Amino acid sequence: MSGNITFTMIKPKAIAKGYMGKIIDQIITGGFTIKALKYTCLSKEEAMEFYAVHKERPFYNDLTGFMSSGPIVAAILEKENAVQAYRDYIGATNPSDAEEGTIRKLYGTDIQANAVHGSDSDENAVIESSFYFSERERV
Ligand code: GDP
Repeated sequence: MSGNITFTMIKPKAIAKGYMGKIIDQIITGGFTIKALKYTCLSKEEAMEFYAVHKERPFYNDLTGFMSSGPIVAAILEKENAVQAYRDYIGATNPSDAEEGTIRKLYGTDIQANAVHGSDSDENAVIESSFYFSERERV
């Protein structure tokens, strides 16, 4: 059964380029309800923990360095079938492969700085949401 919660981050490059408001607006326009929201930074160690699933991949060090290079926005989003719906909405990992109108196509720079993160499973959506938010930080 599909869950109704996913987790997203707006990545440092998109924040640095001034896209934070536009991306949040597009998330809401897409019918996702914000259940929790936080503007914060990740340390390198926290980024390594968050992306531990990728630790064997060649880009792990670059990715975790990038994700700790500046502020991010973390959010829990609600929608029916949220994980898949959001992945469809943000587009392919590489912005150059993403469909027109998707968040990564509009606001991504390259395969690493691809504007936003989106959970890849219901299980990870729960784990990632709990990484950032306590129960009382959720509406
Ligand atoms: P996602 O589920 O679409 O975010 O993609 P993945 O789970 O495969 O990768 C996680 C994140 O790692 C992506 O969102 C990118 O920021 C980054 N990433 C993926 N592939 C590459 C790559 O080949 N090079 C670099 N530098 N970063 C990558």
